[in-house]
Amino acid sequence: MTKLTIITALAVLGTLSVVAFLQPERPTEAYRTEKCTHETTLYVLKWPGDSTTYDVTHGNLFDWWQEEIEEAADIWNDDGGADFSFNHSSSSSHDWGKKRLRKIHRIAETGIVATNCVVTDVDTYFNTRYTFNRCDTDPGDCNQSDVYDVRAVSLHEFGHWLVLGHTAPWRFSCVMRNGEWEDRTLCGDDRNGIQSIYGED
Ligand SMILES: [Zn+2]
Repeated sequence: MTKLTIITALAVLGTLSVVAFLQPERPTEAYRTEKCTHETTLYVLKWPGDSTTYDVTHGNLFDWWQEEIEEAADIWNDDGGADFSFNHSSSSSHDWGKKRLRKIHRIAETGIVATNCVVTDVDTYFNTRYTFNRCDTDPGDCNQSDVYDVRAVSLHEFGHWLVLGHTAPWRFSCVMRNGEWEDRTLCGDDRNGIQSIYGED
């Protein structure tokens, strides 16, 4: 039995610009899926079926915060074009919450647990070292560097729930670009990525 845990996180922007500079060519499809080896065969890591549950109610999050996460799930459901859906359930063991993360540069952290290259559990924690807001209706100090939009961050992290990796750093309007915490809409790469794993809807 193979157990695999992947922790995805924010890389500092300084690193990103170096990576972009060193990239020799730009492929048409820049999305990345997570690979997994089981009994010498290479698989794309994914959920076993065409849906998963998630729970926002047991993570000590404000009501508005829970609503923003659910909005993010619906963006993937409605606009992803893939045969996969997120369904909220307060009895789900796949949780959203917040805690003080050890890594100070991580805005949020999504941990994936898989058995034999099939996902069995995913949890996401927002890093309480930062301030999170609802930046469309309550912009407040959203333009400050340590304040983040809950829906945009959730949209990115739900991409990791789908086991998408980061898209190329020059895909500026893509949710799955590393360090992207502002976009609230999917780009073509985001859609192609999820459809490549779960098939078109
Ligand atoms: Zn990420």
